Amino acid sequence: MAIRNLRYEGDPILGKVCKEVKEMTPRLQELAQDMIETMYAAEGVGLAAPQVGILRRIAVIDVGEGPYVFVNPKIVETSGEQVGDEGCLSVPGKNGTVRRPEYVKAVAYDINMQPIEVEGHGLFARAMCHEFDHLDGHLYVEKVEGPLRDNVYEDDGE
Ligand code: ZN
Repeated sequence: MAIRNLRYEGDPILGKVCKEVKEMTPRLQELAQDMIETMYAAEGVGLAAPQVGILRRIAVIDVGEGPYVFVNPKIVETSGEQVGDEGCLSVPGKNGTVRRPEYVKAVAYDINMQPIEVEGHGLFARAMCHEFDHLDGHLYVEKVEGPLRDNVYEDDGE
């Protein structure tokens, strides 16, 4: 596994629509593993393939329940609403308020191209919306309500 270079806002690749994965290959499996490692190294909760420069419909998420790999994900159900802060590894040092559904159900394929159905509430639902938006070339900054803020790290002595 290897840590891949992140792409940042302003890179045209982040505005492109990704291609579906028709067949899983060792190369794409390695990409998914590298994305998980890259996400952990950057202390993110999700990462989408275009953020490492690959225009394929693959995203990884770990909100503390272990890593999920989503291949060709589709949101099939949403409900409720949450308003909260969101950030992105491709927009470092910033955060902003984004409205998302509180609950999301998605269908996708896993790293072995087995069909999966994943339900998430709260942060997991938010992460799915955010990461899957990347696969259509959208960044959360398009959806921010109010100003984009600079991250402020408070030193609480811990
Ligand atoms: Zn992002």
